[in-house]
Amino acid sequence: MMKASPNMGHRAITMLQQELPDITINVVTQNVDLLHEKAGSKNIYHIHGQIDECICTNCGYVMKTLGDVESDEVCPQCHVQGMLKPNIVFFGEMPKYMNEVEKMLTECDMFIAIGTSGIVYPAAGFVQLAKLYGAKTYLFNLESCHNSSMFDEEILGKASKTFPKFAEQLINEIKRKDNKV
Ligand SMILES: [Zn+2]
Repeated sequence: MMKASPNMGHRAITMLQQELPDITINVVTQNVDLLHEKAGSKNIYHIHGQIDECICTNCGYVMKTLGDVESDEVCPQCHVQGMLKPNIVFFGEMPKYMNEVEKMLTECDMFIAIGTSGIVYPAAGFVQLAKLYGAKTYLFNLESCHNSSMFDEEILGKASKTFPKFAEQLINEIKRKDNKV
């Protein structure tokens, strides 16, 4: 995972953020890898946690680690032993940043899902909420997904190919509009 490189899809998100600095573009991801970070994106919310951290299940302290965490390790904050686990959301645990994400979904103008089965909740429900609050909704996926009927537009194919094209068009469109005003 540490050797993996971001693809053109990851990079296109960074391009959007850099080319459209006046627009808030948030990245909500279920991926625990750091490919969005490696691609240089900002405003990243790892709702299923991230691989380079561990968390103390006693006090909630989060620390960076890329190595193994032993079961007898002591938490540097509460000094309790054996309570550290990977900062990754396991089955049965609550996803992270749900309040922040809900706020984003109710306030966004555009909701774009990239690469999803549309099955795993709560993320599978994000599109419904965004749509309910008036966002235009897009899906970029290899194949039609479980809840694809919720999307205004469905773009099938490799997202690393289809999304950069879309991002470029979107940047041009918004810049053209801005120049006219
Ligand atoms: Zn602790």
